[in-house]
Amino acid sequence: MKGNLPPKKLSLMEKGNMELKMPPDKVSCSRLPVLGLGAKRKLDKENAPEPKKKRIRGPGTAVTTAGSRPRVSTVATMPRAKKQEAAQKAPLKTGPWHTTAATTDVKSRKPISAVSAPKPVSGVSPTTARKGPSKRPAWDVKGQLCDLRKEFSACQVQTEALTKENRELKSQFGQAEQQAKTLEAENKVLIGELTEIRAQAKQDQLELGKLSARVQEQEERLHTQEGLIQSIQEERLHLQEERRNLAARLEVQEAQLQESMAALAKSQAEITTQAALLAERTEHLHGLEMERRYLHNQLQELKGNIRVFCRVRPALPGEPTPPPGLILFPPGPNGASEPSTRLSLTRPPEDRCSIIGGLPGPPVRYDFSFDRVFLPGSKQNEVFEEVSLLVQSALDGYPVCIFAYGQTGSGKTFTMEGGPGGDPQVEGLIPRAVRHLFSVARKLEAQGWSYTFVASYVEIYNETIRDLLACVGGAQKCQGVEYEIRLAGPGSKELIVTNAQYVPVSCEEEVESLLHLARQNRAVARTTQNEQSSRSHSVFQLQISGKHMGQNLHCAAPLNLVDLAGSERLDSGLSTGPGDRERLKETQAINSSLSTLGLVIMALSNKESHVPYRNSKLTYLLQNSLRGSAKMLMFVNISPLEENFSESLNSLRFASKVNQCVIGTARANKK
Ligand code: ADP
Ligand code: MG
Repeated sequence: MKGNLPPKKLSLMEKGNMELKMPPDKVSCSRLPVLGLGAKRKLDKENAPEPKKKRIRGPGTAVTTAGSRPRVSTVATMPRAKKQEAAQKAPLKTGPWHTTAATTDVKSRKPISAVSAPKPVSGVSPTTARKGPSKRPAWDVKGQLCDLRKEFSACQVQTEALTKENRELKSQFGQAEQQAKTLEAENKVLIGELTEIRAQAKQDQLELGKLSARVQEQEERLHTQEGLIQSIQEERLHLQEERRNLAARLEVQEAQLQESMAALAKSQAEITTQAALLAERTEHLHGLEMERRYLHNQLQELKGNIRVFCRVRPALPGEPTPPPGLILFPPGPNGASEPSTRLSLTRPPEDRCSIIGGLPGPPVRYDFSFDRVFLPGSKQNEVFEEVSLLVQSALDGYPVCIFAYGQTGSGKTFTMEGGPGGDPQVEGLIPRAVRHLFSVARKLEAQGWSYTFVASYVEIYNETIRDLLACVGGAQKCQGVEYEIRLAGPGSKELIVTNAQYVPVSCEEEVESLLHLARQNRAVARTTQNEQSSRSHSVFQLQISGKHMGQNLHCAAPLNLVDLAGSERLDSGLSTGPGDRERLKETQAINSSLSTLGLVIMALSNKESHVPYRNSKLTYLLQNSLRGSAKMLMFVNISPLEENFSESLNSLRFASKVNQCVIGTARANKK
């Protein structure tokens, strides 16, 4: 719609409310002079003295306006530019003579009769016409008629003119109405447009509001972003500074690295030299180790492949104090400073009286000499010190067998396993030996040796083998299980007990838990079978095998720690009831196995062709640890009590025989 409007109208619209708020008459006046009331009033005043003129004004104002502006109809229909021109020219025609001039002009322009309305067309007003000839006498009816005719015709002419003028005015009025309608329509359109424009303006206002809000928001964001940029720039500066510092540090570090590389290269060269030296020394060390083993073995052999240590336990609290002189420890040839090797047992006089039943004779003294004699006050560590070198031989590949021989209560278990309560001070040979072996094995690892240890713990009671490492209560559960001594495999010389537990161990704690398990199993067996542990031999065996990968060497040997059954003889006063028969059988079995052990040692000592290993389970199981290059140590445990004198004497006699059985050079040296 806006697009269809002529440019002038658009400019009018653009003027906005100002122009639209003007009174409608003014607006109309500017466009339609004929409708202006102001003009009408003005004209009324001007023409007031002429009542006739006033009377003849019909459609009125148009005529009056036409009088003041003779060319108004032309102006109304002429283009806008010409209208303006006419408007400029119009004042020139105003003045006192204006009416006349207008009249004249109307007269000269006949067709525009509307303008000439104030005066009769004939140019002579009826008044003037009546005034002209003198008043006819009453009789002059003809003359009067003539005058009346003239006047009538003049009136007719005038009527015609007026009718014509009226028509024209009507036509003009129609045009004006049409124009008014057009203008009204135009006005409506303009109002519509204005409403639209207002709505648009409102919308624009809203849009503007939104846009300004967005602008504000964007400005805030911009502000934030600026802040961010500023902080980033600051951080960048900080990072640049840091980078510079790091670069400087890097430079320093690189220099250091270069130095270190140079030092490293130097060190590597040195390491290579050292490695060569180390290899050479390792080789040398290995040679020395092998030499040590050889010499160690030589020493052990010189000391005797079968050695006997005597240990006298102290009197326990609650036991009678032994009479002085019952057991004496004479000093050696080098005095009391050197370790004791001798022991004298003196039979009390009354004891002898009872034997011969006669007069009291002089006391009889029995002297014994062993590889070492431990006095009652000797500590466990002192005992082990003497044994440790022998234990070392097991690592070097020599079978080692340590026995504890003696009557029940003489201290065999104390020597082998230790005292009660788990006190480390009273730890026995077994825990000390394994700890020593593990420690030496770890040291030998540095020379290329690697060792493995496998433990087993069995009990031989009445020539029957039981596994002490079976689970707790295993003695009951495994009652049907047969434990037989067999070769470990075809072609193997190693002997094992079938169905027994062979447990790999690598530390003392593991061995300790095995000893604990064995103790528990022994306790259970004691209560269920009313059996004394002292009536059985218990054999703790540690299979040691070592490898030297570099030298392709291999060594394997068992270490046996045997707590023998009580060596006491059968009580002569024992009755022959069913329980006693069992006890008799038990004692015979013990005596038989102990005497077999003695016979085996003697046969080995005498290098007899037949060694009666098979005569007892104990010697049969231990045969590999007794023959050849095996090392054997026997502890003969003695009770200090007077009441145990006979048993002590028996034990010492047995041990003495064993001691004489020492094989090889050691024996010669001993003598
Ligand atoms: P066995 O095993 O020969 O029957 P034990 O080793 O059981 O004898 O010893 C019997 C008692 O004597 C135990 O109470 C033990 O603690 C104690 N005993 C043995 N030898 C010693 C010793 N050298 N020092 C202290 N007490 C000992
Ligand atoms: Mg015991």
